[in-house]
Amino acid sequence: MSTQDFFAANAERHLEEFLELLRIPSVSSDPAHIPDVARAGRWLADRLNAIGVPEVQLIDPDTHPVVEARWQVDPGKKTLLVYGHYDVQPVDPLALWISPPFEPTVRDGKIYARGAADMKSSMITFIQALEAIVAESGEPPLNLILLFEGEEESSGRVVTEYLTANPDRLACDAILNLDGAFPALDHPGFGVTLKGGMLVELHIKIGDTDMHSGKYGASVPNANQIMAKLAATFHTPDGAVAIAGFYDDVVPLSESDRAEIAASAAVMSPILEESGAFVEWGEPGYTAAERAGARPALDINGVWGGFTGEGAKTVTPAEAHMKLSCRMVPNQDGRRLYDLIVAHIEKHIPPGIKWEANYLGGAPAYSTPRDNWALQVAASTLADVYGVNPVFYRVGGSVPITIRFKDTLGVDTVTCGFTMPGSNIHAPNEWFRFEDYPKAQRTWVELLQAFGEA
Ligand SMILES: [Zn+2]
Repeated sequence: MSTQDFFAANAERHLEEFLELLRIPSVSSDPAHIPDVARAGRWLADRLNAIGVPEVQLIDPDTHPVVEARWQVDPGKKTLLVYGHYDVQPVDPLALWISPPFEPTVRDGKIYARGAADMKSSMITFIQALEAIVAESGEPPLNLILLFEGEEESSGRVVTEYLTANPDRLACDAILNLDGAFPALDHPGFGVTLKGGMLVELHIKIGDTDMHSGKYGASVPNANQIMAKLAATFHTPDGAVAIAGFYDDVVPLSESDRAEIAASAAVMSPILEESGAFVEWGEPGYTAAERAGARPALDINGVWGGFTGEGAKTVTPAEAHMKLSCRMVPNQDGRRLYDLIVAHIEKHIPPGIKWEANYLGGAPAYSTPRDNWALQVAASTLADVYGVNPVFYRVGGSVPITIRFKDTLGVDTVTCGFTMPGSNIHAPNEWFRFEDYPKAQRTWVELLQAFGEA
């Protein structure tokens, strides 16, 4: 039976499977949901067994299992590792959901449920595509390793440990991450460069205790004022980061980088519209899209100290605190940025003030090489299916697993998925469009076949 006929004959059951998976509250960050996460893992393993995948196992079955499914068809063929996650974000605030998050509900051509867009739709349509290929040809067109984890939204512990312990077992020629999104409604694309991030905490102290501002405000330093002054030195007046050496490791944008960013910006919503901010701001010499996708940034995430309660309290605060983070582009290193930030503070803080900075961790940026064979195959497949050239876009956020794959397996990741902008991932009323469901199934079939032929 052709894959198209198979999808037509099984449409109702396929949709029912999606709803069944959505009903499992696989919230990985909440220990109370550990049994649900484990149940979702077993549910997927059962589906993979049912469609005839020869080797299926659950790693760490009682916590947040990784589902590993292997189908070795021919050692002479390429091996594709397919990654996804079946856990979901918490649902709070529950009161803002129009229908309950784990009772999938259809409204206006959309299925509303937690995990509908991020990313149970991607995972189940991929399994169903594999099922259709098996119905047509008996086996997949290349060797497959499926790695579906249950804690992407929290720690990623099980998958990371498994990856580190089994680089030979997971050796592959390409990695497909199903956790992708369209850059614009009905315009396909691939998130090809992801920023990294690093976090710093800073505490300053001018004395042992808060003081009466009448008695001491004119004669001792004020921790808040020192912190505010210091905070103001982190950027130049026109919006560049003023930390010495901050941009040293940044690879300058080439003409082709700028063309790529302009092409994706042309189909994506303008940053002002999408963000809800009133005005633009940032490093001069770059468009907002270039700054968002391809230039590093330093953000002061929080500043506190002194009295912030109701009414008045005339105090000269002894302590002030700050949390800041940097979004890094490829080739930048979080530890090195931290050293530069510390040197900057040393230079700008007045003598005699006690202070302490802590590095809270970080992960580097990741970029899929544009000439990666799997990315090229995926781009031409999506162009055929959608009748429009997909764009390569850059993402401000981070996906640590892509770096772990690169470090452990030496293989680059292609990220692809059918989540539309505005689908409320991580927010109340998450949705996935009905019309994208059969398109996703069909695209996965085309993609697997194209990988098999490459
Ligand atoms: Zn996701």
